[in-house]
Amino acid sequence: MARSRSTTPATGIPALAALLVGVFCIAGLLVYEAWNTGRSRREIAERGLQDYAAYATWSTARIADATVTASLATLFRGVVSARVPVNASLLPVSRFEEGIRYLETCDCALPVPASYYFRLDSRTGEMTIIPPPRDEAAASGFATAKVGSFANQQVVTAPSSAARLDVSNAVVKHTPPPGVNFTLIFARVGDSSRVVGVAPQRDSSGVTIGAFGFVAEPDVYARTLINQLWRHPQILPLAITRGLPIDSLLTALVSTPDGNEVYRSSGWSAALRSDTASLARAAGGLRVRVALRPDAVARLGKGLILSSRVPVWVGLLLLTGLLTAIILRNLQREHELTRLRADFTASVSHELRTPLAQILLFGETLTLGRTRSETERVRAAEVIVREARRLMQLVENTLQFSRAERPVVGLSPERVELAPALREVIAAFEPLAETRNVTIVSDLDETSSAIVDRSALRQMVLNLLDNALKYGPREQTIAVTLSSPQPKVVADAAMLALEQETALRVIRISVDDEGPGIFGGTREDIWAPFVRGESSDHPATGCGLGLAVVRELATRHSGKAWVETAPGGRGSRFVIELPCADVQRVADTAPSAVA
Ligand code: ADP
Repeated sequence: MARSRSTTPATGIPALAALLVGVFCIAGLLVYEAWNTGRSRREIAERGLQDYAAYATWSTARIADATVTASLATLFRGVVSARVPVNASLLPVSRFEEGIRYLETCDCALPVPASYYFRLDSRTGEMTIIPPPRDEAAASGFATAKVGSFANQQVVTAPSSAARLDVSNAVVKHTPPPGVNFTLIFARVGDSSRVVGVAPQRDSSGVTIGAFGFVAEPDVYARTLINQLWRHPQILPLAITRGLPIDSLLTALVSTPDGNEVYRSSGWSAALRSDTASLARAAGGLRVRVALRPDAVARLGKGLILSSRVPVWVGLLLLTGLLTAIILRNLQREHELTRLRADFTASVSHELRTPLAQILLFGETLTLGRTRSETERVRAAEVIVREARRLMQLVENTLQFSRAERPVVGLSPERVELAPALREVIAAFEPLAETRNVTIVSDLDETSSAIVDRSALRQMVLNLLDNALKYGPREQTIAVTLSSPQPKVVADAAMLALEQETALRVIRISVDDEGPGIFGGTREDIWAPFVRGESSDHPATGCGLGLAVVRELATRHSGKAWVETAPGGRGSRFVIELPCADVQRVADTAPSAVA
């Protein structure tokens, strides 16, 4: 679109726009800073939490060592340091039973969840089960063995002879060296893995002649151990736990030294950040992995992760962006308006000057009696009338445009027989058309009438005729048609009925020319006020109001106005559609603004 021929300097706008963009950039920087600070805080917090997990792992392992050692020392306290004379029998079972009883009742160390206890004579291979199974013959293996409670004299299921052999072999193989009083080992017993606690029995010469011990299921043992440990107050400092139970903060995975998992506490997941530590050999070399529970991360992290301000800053940034966009848009509009006003003033002045100059020239010619013949005198008078009409039309358009912005100014609609009214307009326009040797033909439906404001109708049609004359070639033919539209042929019966009804309810006035036509997106733009199309490169002058006034008036009569290609594919056809007299309602009191 060729909209502008003059530029109004608006020096303040770029500076203001730059300032707004600057404010927006600063807001963006602040958001970035806030985000960056939040990120490094989160990293620090995560490292802190990782350190908590590492500390918990380390303290779990160390306290486990101490706990298991204390537990085994209590259990084997009657048998560890006692030496029997060379070739004498092993210590009596009662010495061991006393330790078992004490451990179960003292509540002073980790209870041993043993399937059974035993005394093994390595010289004879004889294994005595403690407490003695009720029915040795009925026992077939460990499969049904439960943790026996010696104190309660709960009966244990006797191990099979194959199982006893496996235990004996493991005990012999892993007997701790002299100086080590007891140990915990993992042994294959039958098809399963078992925890075996062993205290060797030595004679006075230091030779190992047997052992006392117990057999337990590894998962039960590990569970008992972990439950016991997490009652310990020093697993995590109170300053960190703030009195929360340890098992609500930590979760653990326990495996044998060769990596077989034996126990995992609830909430364990491989995805958690954990740390691993191994227990001492005396405590079976168990491997413990400890992690913070996910909900504990949130609870413990509270102190570490300060609440992020990023959402507030992002909100502020968006608000700033929105405000900047709105202000820039308004500035642009204001700039555009200033430019349009300047254009308008320039165009109107130019439009006024041409006919005024003609009127003045021919007026003076007449006044000074410079005409040489009657024909010349009549011609001069005709020019004056014609140019005065153009002036009138221009003033009408301008007035109409300013009225559109003041809704209180109304129209005076009345029933108008359209064919005679159009003939009158065409006749008034013909002298102007003759100046360019343009022929106007008309095809008017004599029966059509509408409720319109006469002067509005005249102005709409004159504007279209004036444009057709301005933008079309010399010696062209302009066709004015008044008709009812032909209903479109559609297959659907209901749609066809609707089409026919619509066709009956409206009339169309069209003005066809042989000019360059109007194409593409321009077809809609040219209806806006002050907008001049590509054809404004044409020598024809104008101020971009004619079509805006046509559409405004058509709309106020509940009608429409548009442009299409003229029949034959050459030139434009401008159409005004108005409701027929019987259905028409004039939007007299509430006009829409053309701007
Ligand atoms: P003006 O004629 O004063 O420029 P209008 O509102 O009457 O303003 O028309 C807007 C634009 O539409 C014109 O600048 C012109 O480019 C285009 N236009 C209007 N009528 C015709 C026509 N009959 N043929 C070609 N272009 C036209």
